[in-house]
Amino acid sequence: MNARKVSSQPPIPDSSRREPSLTIGVLGAGQLGRMMALAGYPLGLRFVFLDPAASAPAGSLAEHVVADYLDEQALERLSACDVVTYEFESVPVEAARRLAQKTQVFPPPDALAVAQDRLLEKECFRALGVPTAPFAPVSTREELASHVQELGLPAVLKTRRFGYDGKGQAVLRSEADLDAAFAELGAQPLLLEGFVPFERELSLLCVRGRDGKVAFYPLVENRHREGILRVTYAPADGIRDSLQATAERYAGQVLERLAYVGVLTIEFFLRDGELYANEMAPRVHNSGHFTIEGAETSQFENHLRAILGLPLGSTEVLEPCAMLNLVGDLPPREAVLAVPSAHLHFYDKAPRVGRKVGHITVRAATRAALDANVTRLLRLPGAG
Ligand code: AMP
Repeated sequence: MNARKVSSQPPIPDSSRREPSLTIGVLGAGQLGRMMALAGYPLGLRFVFLDPAASAPAGSLAEHVVADYLDEQALERLSACDVVTYEFESVPVEAARRLAQKTQVFPPPDALAVAQDRLLEKECFRALGVPTAPFAPVSTREELASHVQELGLPAVLKTRRFGYDGKGQAVLRSEADLDAAFAELGAQPLLLEGFVPFERELSLLCVRGRDGKVAFYPLVENRHREGILRVTYAPADGIRDSLQATAERYAGQVLERLAYVGVLTIEFFLRDGELYANEMAPRVHNSGHFTIEGAETSQFENHLRAILGLPLGSTEVLEPCAMLNLVGDLPPREAVLAVPSAHLHFYDKAPRVGRKVGHITVRAATRAALDANVTRLLRLPGAG
């Protein structure tokens, strides 16, 4: 018998084996950054946030440089970080490019530039054969009139940049709407899109590592009200494997094309069993918040794993989940936590009309049990 020699001495700790401390620089310090930090601390990561808003939600958790995104000294501080990322896509691409000269920046600044501009984004989808609504760039009132002739009505007029939560867009239902919409939005470059009479809105969260490995979460369903995401169901109900496979094929092509590293979210319209890409977010996403308690690995952890070159975690969803945004108001903690398997996230933001100030995730073994919990939660102030 081969006896293994077992030393009675405990191994002498080798201080050189300590994992090096790693600091992540983050442009933006909103709730997405806050949740990223909360996911990163168990991995031994440190964070430095740059955001001009002194009261930004991540600021109470980590070092927060309060300065303009292009401030020289602030960028100097971030460039000392091991990796820089973004939690907000409207940061100047220039800041990301300057940082990329000194440290590693993921997702690549070129991907940020594409995702910031609805025209470049839609052209990227089109070039890859990913279906979208028909679209055309608009910069004058005359162009608007002629593209409305081509695309027909109803149509949606959007600013190419800086739109969020339904802001910076107008639905054109008749010719009579054109003047007012152009007067409101026309100071900026615009995009006209054909209106998609969709049945459901879905999103796909995906993640690509530095080694090119990819992982996808299941498609989720998003319900909006007044242009703001209110409830996400994960996984989306009744999605055929072939539809999931199509979404993954589309997203995989986008990830490759952009040489992407990190979490990317693509929002789709579902119409007659077909997916139409609406937009992409080069970051963790509101529709992925359910992954904190609802998936084997959260989107925040997977984003960090990806940008650090660590192995990606499983994207398996553990049980049917729903995520309810808390918009404009906060319910009492007791009322939320009294609901079985409800988890509460407050973002440390002052409630204001239309402002996302927190969210609730709820899980259940069956969709029927989940619906019962969601119905109960929807009665609370701010929920859904
Ligand atoms: P977006 O800012 O592009 O995500 O648009 C906000 C919301 O407006 C979407 O979630 C849809 O509900 C609606 N929407 C945007 N574009 C279109 C479109 N081309 N057709 C129909 N609805 C749209």
